[in-house]
Amino acid sequence: MDETLCLTIDAVSRWHNATYGTSYTLSSYSTYDWSQVWGTSLSEAQNRIRQFQQSPYYLTDMQPVPGAKEALTVLSAHYTICLVTAREHFASEATHAFLNHHYPGLVSHVYFANQNMTAEEVAASHGTHQKPRTKLEILQQIGARVLVDDSLEHMRICASGGVRVFLFDLEGQYKFNKIEGGDASLPKGVTRVTSWKEVADILVSDPHVKGHALRATRSLEEVEQELGVALEVSA
Ligand SMILES: [Mg+2]
Repeated sequence: MDETLCLTIDAVSRWHNATYGTSYTLSSYSTYDWSQVWGTSLSEAQNRIRQFQQSPYYLTDMQPVPGAKEALTVLSAHYTICLVTAREHFASEATHAFLNHHYPGLVSHVYFANQNMTAEEVAASHGTHQKPRTKLEILQQIGARVLVDDSLEHMRICASGGVRVFLFDLEGQYKFNKIEGGDASLPKGVTRVTSWKEVADILVSDPHVKGHALRATRSLEEVEQELGVALEVSA
């Protein structure tokens, strides 16, 4: 979701600049640890992120990633597209609203990995679908074989589990997912891409990748039963 389907760093920078008089842009972010970018403690950064998530910058003004809608439209003719996001379950309403507005009918199911919750938020959450889990756990549960993600951490974990990963690096501008020493050290099965068109071109035309990829191996109903939750379906 973030940085693959929506320009979250752009939005959080605009919010932060308006709120704290800073002048951050995408190029300010060479790490996923926004406390380092903003020069704050971890807990203060977490506070700011939660404030941002209540603001129009997050709720209504977030912009989609250029080219994503066109690519998902092409891919949806061949594949079942699910969103597996690090976001927290309490971002569900905003997430679905964004998808319905910018990607109507393109994403079949949405799963929240709840990756960045505070200890208090974890304690207040109930059930598997509200607790932190890795994207790999979710991908394995739903039988997904390909992931498009901008995060080095998610890329590494999922690649280690045999998932084909497209490391998303929009127009090569994502400083935070560059690899020291270059991409020669990317894990097997990982390809850096700089546009959604590249993803669609490879997945639709490359028989090797296509043969290795996609189509959920179990029905979504089976997965739903296994997870013990009602999966949230975007309208
Ligand atoms: Mg992301």
